[in-house]
Amino acid sequence: MRFDSITRISLDNLRPLLSLFSADLAIDLGTVNTRVYARDKGIVVNEPSAVALDNRTGEVQAVGKEAKEMLGRTPGNLRVVKPMKDGVIADFKVTEKMLNYFIQKAHQRRTLVHPRIVISVPSEITQVEKRAVTDAAYRAKAAEVHLVEQAMMAAIGAGLPVTEPGGNMVVDIGGGTTDVAVISLSGIVYSRSLRIAGNHMDEAIMNHLKRKHNLLIGERTAEQIKIEIGSAYTLDRPLTMEVKGRGLIEGMPKMITVGDSEIREALSECISSIVSAIRVALERTPPELSADISDRGIVLVGGGALLKNLDKRIREETGLPVCIADDPLCCVVLGTAKILPDFKFLRRISIVSTGKQMGPQMLTKIGTQRVRCRITRSEIATRSEIATAAGTQPHLPVRTIADRLRGLFLLGLVLNLPYRWRRETPPDR
Ligand code: ADP
Ligand code: MG
Repeated sequence: MRFDSITRISLDNLRPLLSLFSADLAIDLGTVNTRVYARDKGIVVNEPSAVALDNRTGEVQAVGKEAKEMLGRTPGNLRVVKPMKDGVIADFKVTEKMLNYFIQKAHQRRTLVHPRIVISVPSEITQVEKRAVTDAAYRAKAAEVHLVEQAMMAAIGAGLPVTEPGGNMVVDIGGGTTDVAVISLSGIVYSRSLRIAGNHMDEAIMNHLKRKHNLLIGERTAEQIKIEIGSAYTLDRPLTMEVKGRGLIEGMPKMITVGDSEIREALSECISSIVSAIRVALERTPPELSADISDRGIVLVGGGALLKNLDKRIREETGLPVCIADDPLCCVVLGTAKILPDFKFLRRISIVSTGKQMGPQMLTKIGTQRVRCRITRSEIATRSEIATAAGTQPHLPVRTIADRLRGLFLLGLVLNLPYRWRRETPPDR
């Protein structure tokens, strides 16, 4: 075994000890809600992904719940932005400001140790968006950033045995997207993101009331209707609700009563699209995994899973067992939190892993030649990254200053051992 490998192993073993001092954070960056879990504290942020900005100065006036309250009620100088749209980052700058606010709120800079942050992101975000998320986390003083896929985190949060060789199907119905994924052996075998979910259901309700009742309502009222009387399958007991809005013809405030059946009809197109995405996923799943799914069934997560009788409708249409995760809204962040202490597993499943930049330049020895290059402190990408940055072959041995310090540390341990042995040996009688 090379000396280098020994030092690396020793650092890995120290990680659990080092992590005792850091306040690690798990973040679910959702289209509608962002949730932050702080180690040993639980969920410390659970707020809408919304930011209220001053139109003239661009300054942030409110974030989260406060900003959502302002939606549809802002004066001319304010606007409320939802920076995430359809599972992608629609506005980088605002996403960065929002993430920064939530991280500061969760971390509160109590300790000198910078947090290690794991962020679960939608599976279909681009390289540029991944970069924007990691940069935002670094600007909020993260020491290390890992991006993981929401589908995998949802499955872990729902308690599915993702590491075993067996098919697990998880359907995450969020605000902007419905993500259908089949997971086996800690990897995603099939995944598809459908841009139809909670927000589209709200829109469908708004359009229905406009067309059928000439009533204009806002997004928040539409969401309330969906939560209170929306359903995907006939209910045991009919439900009605009084809805207030503005009459389209009179232009005056108006109130009507709506029933569950007409809302179900309004939602039917969205529900059919979700069901057919599940059917397509089942058709494309390899047969061995299909057999596992037919035994284990489908797990629903995300806020959309709470739509009344959606599980019943999917069960009817697929003939498979369907269940809703224990806490569907927080499933992703709880799954992300579960992997926070398991550094090796985290490394294996993260789609982006980076360490903090250690300054613009660092003296590094590549082979026998000394070069100056930009490097990262990350344990993951450094060697080949350094070599590439220095324009050298990645397979050449690279020794960083961190390596040398680790070497010295190990040497110190080795030198100390004989002394300790001498002290522990009982004196000869
Ligand atoms: P995301 O992860 O995309 O931010 P969430 O998983 O937080 O989304 O789910 C938010 C969506 O779930 C919203 O569209 C919200 O209206 C919807 N939702 C929340 N509770 C319910 C409910 N009881 N019934 C139906 N939809 C719900
Ligand atoms: Mg989500």
